[in-house]
Amino acid sequence: MERSPFLPLPEGMVIGQVEIAQAQLTVEVISTQPFAHCPGCGSPSDHVHCQYQRTVHDVPCGGRRVVLRLCVRKFFCRVPSCQRKVFAERLPDLVQPWARVSNRLLEELKALGLAASAEVNERLAPKLGMKVKAPTLLRYLRAIPPPAKASVRVLGIDDFAMKRGDCYGTILVNIFLPVFVKRQIFLLNLAFEARCHLSVLNSHRIV
Ligand SMILES: [Zn+2]
Repeated sequence: MERSPFLPLPEGMVIGQVEIAQAQLTVEVISTQPFAHCPGCGSPSDHVHCQYQRTVHDVPCGGRRVVLRLCVRKFFCRVPSCQRKVFAERLPDLVQPWARVSNRLLEELKALGLAASAEVNERLAPKLGMKVKAPTLLRYLRAIPPPAKASVRVLGIDDFAMKRGDCYGTILVNIFLPVFVKRQIFLLNLAFEARCHLSVLNSHRIV
């Protein structure tokens, strides 16, 4: 059992056996936490009921996919009034309950999803040592919470064609939030620098 700088793990977890294949590392991860908290009542318990394996995909290492084989324990909850008689230990610093990808891989996939289309990322991910289907990536993106509500002080406005000559839309951009269309960043920044005291901007002309 050891800890590795190439595969950092949260406190209380160590690496067991490692299987090395051409395109994939399979890493056994063992929890050494002496007890776990019951999700029902919050009480700690060190009475182990059984152990099972859980498979979680992690960020790539050296161009290889990484699959974590987590050795997860189930504990008895000894609190008489608690509904959960047996519960599985949770590892929230590494992976969320029932998730099939680690927290850090989820963040990387979201970053890819925000930068390019889901279909492009489905084709690109294997070349980066990851694997994701477009519908799954879209589900991850839809789960991103919206930014905190704030009053808009400077607004960028532009039009775009969903079908040229037939269907058009208008995009409104809060200039103080990250913008994903490069052309608009350029135009809006120019306008902002020129007339920064204005409250409304247009990407074609300054209002
Ligand atoms: Zn309990």
